Amino acid sequence: MKSYDITIIGAGIAGAGMAEFFSNKGYKCIVLEQFSHPACGTSSKSSKLIHGGLRYLENFEFALVKESLKERAYLVKYLPQIVQLKSFYLPLYTHSKRKPWMVFLGLSIYTLFSWEKFSSVPKNEWHRLDIETKDLLKVYKYKDGVTDDKPLTTHVLEQCACSLMFDARVEKIEDFKTHCIVSYEKDGMTQQVTSKVVINAAGPWVNEVLNSCTQKPDTLSIDLVLGSHILVDTKVDRIYYIEARDKRAIFVRPYHDGTLIGTTEVHFNSSLQHIDVPPSDILYLIDNFNHYFKTKITLENVINSFAGLRVLPEDDKSAFKKSREVKIWNDPVNAPNVYSIYGGKLTSFRATARKVYKKIKSKL
Ligand SMILES: Cc1cc2nc3c(=O)[nH]c(=O)nc-3n(C[C@H](O)[C@H](O)[C@H](O)COP(=O)(O)OP(=O)(O)OC[C@H]3O[C@@H](n4cnc5c(N)ncnc54)[C@H](O)[C@@H]3O)c2cc1C
Repeated sequence: MKSYDITIIGAGIAGAGMAEFFSNKGYKCIVLEQFSHPACGTSSKSSKLIHGGLRYLENFEFALVKESLKERAYLVKYLPQIVQLKSFYLPLYTHSKRKPWMVFLGLSIYTLFSWEKFSSVPKNEWHRLDIETKDLLKVYKYKDGVTDDKPLTTHVLEQCACSLMFDARVEKIEDFKTHCIVSYEKDGMTQQVTSKVVINAAGPWVNEVLNSCTQKPDTLSIDLVLGSHILVDTKVDRIYYIEARDKRAIFVRPYHDGTLIGTTEVHFNSSLQHIDVPPSDILYLIDNFNHYFKTKITLENVINSFAGLRVLPEDDKSAFKKSREVKIWNDPVNAPNVYSIYGGKLTSFRATARKVYKKIKSKL
């Protein structure tokens, strides 16, 4: 049986970030992924933004926004081929819930954390935008990061001097206090690796993996929230951050040969084997696009759609209000060497790896 310092379960952005961080520190790591490619879970279904999260300021998540903006600056500087800073347009109408002064305040805080200035688009330039100008009050223009999540995850993994095992589904974790044995299924056979620590970066499958520990450790209660995007064949020229009719936030951006619109937030109670886009989400996104944009679209314009699951804390708050902060969980009694990653962001994968390191370094 091969022996490692760390077994990482999941080749999404969290697992990739962890593999890069720990192998750069000289630890011997293996990544086990159930699918045949990296980023087959949430990390190819995101809004593909490397952002501070302007709207998290509404929930007073200042530390998260600050950390994310720092990560954004790093990624824009060191991965310019995959992460770029672009102008975002944020229109406010007479009926918008967020008033211009609120957005001004939010963007001022954003600027304070990132030193990227914002401005408002003069009224005589509004006609150049893709959006309806009736009842338009103000349009802010600010900078944020865009990426493509799957190439980003693949790139991060390619940087690592670690072992990668695809089509390897973890089925059992035995924690013997001094070391762990992880059993996974590959090519119809059960294989095993041993390591000092196991990092469970299984995204929405996090509790499923944790429940495969023989000692049954405590798990965190989570809400899985489905977010859908549609890709349409009509084009917009700029990136927009619009307030949906139900006051949520939706991004609209040029993407490949079309326009990417998303996301939605719907509680998910189905099987993790069927993470599909609900038809009602497609209609919701079309409706909101048509409400704000000069060009109108129908179902016929939809050329692709995808959905991913956010791992959010189980509480009474609406999905939109729940914290996006990552949680690193460990049950010191029943599985002392297994660390599980709950939630987090594409943007902050490096910060997550640093936080995990702080927790596990004494065990390495
Ligand atoms: C709709 C939506 C939009 C988002 N938009 C943004 C955004 O614009 N910017 C941003 O910063 N963040 C965004 N996020 C958050 C971000 O996408 C996620 O935090 C991130 O992708 C999660 O990565 P992960 O590696 O934890 O999970 P995943 O990408 O889901 O990876 C988990 C991996 O574990 C594997 N796995 C599971 N079980 C097993 C097992 N038993 N054995 C082996 N492998 C296993 C899975 O196959 C999967 O590949 C968004 C999230 C959603 C849902």
